[in-house]
Amino acid sequence: SPLDLKSFCQELIEDIQVADRYQHPILLDLQEACNFVEVDSKILRYILENLLSNAVKYSPENSEVYLGVRCQDCQICLQVKDAGIGIPLSDRQRLFESFYRATNVGTITGTGLGLAIVKRSVELYGGQIEVQSELGEGTSFTVVLPLS
Ligand code: ATP
Ligand code: MG
Repeated sequence: SPLDLKSFCQELIEDIQVADRYQHPILLDLQEACNFVEVDSKILRYILENLLSNAVKYSPENSEVYLGVRCQDCQICLQVKDAGIGIPLSDRQRLFESFYRATNVGTITGTGLGLAIVKRSVELYGGQIEVQSELGEGTSFTVVLPLS
């Protein structure tokens, strides 16, 4: 059934912010045409929870996180962007492997499973995930999913 994406994203962002001790502002940029599209809310929630919690976890206090949502050609495109620590080029191709963590995580804890499961779920769904990153500048994950 059609999903009220705007409310859905706003609630998800609130959940992330409640658990975020560094109080990162999260900017939602949702294209009007995206509201009430047919999309599986379970997979969407799983993807966004993981990408947004990474974005706040790997960013300095108060730096802004961006969530963009676009819809076109029967696809939904999600972009989660942060101004955090970035990912070294040499780590990037192993990033989606289970238990793999980049070499620059320092004291930030994690198990290295989130992205592996996100990538599998996205691909099972017929979608794609890509990462762009600049070390010390920030990271952007883009997910494209076919709409049902
Ligand atoms: P968890 O399984 O609890 O999510 P995790 O965050 O370490 O642990 P993933 O979410 O799978 O694991 O991410 C894998 C690795 O990718 C991270 O350990 C980190 O090195 C890197 N990474 C992921 N997202 C970002 C980001 N937004 N900025 C910088 N590095 C990131
Ligand atoms: Mg994670």
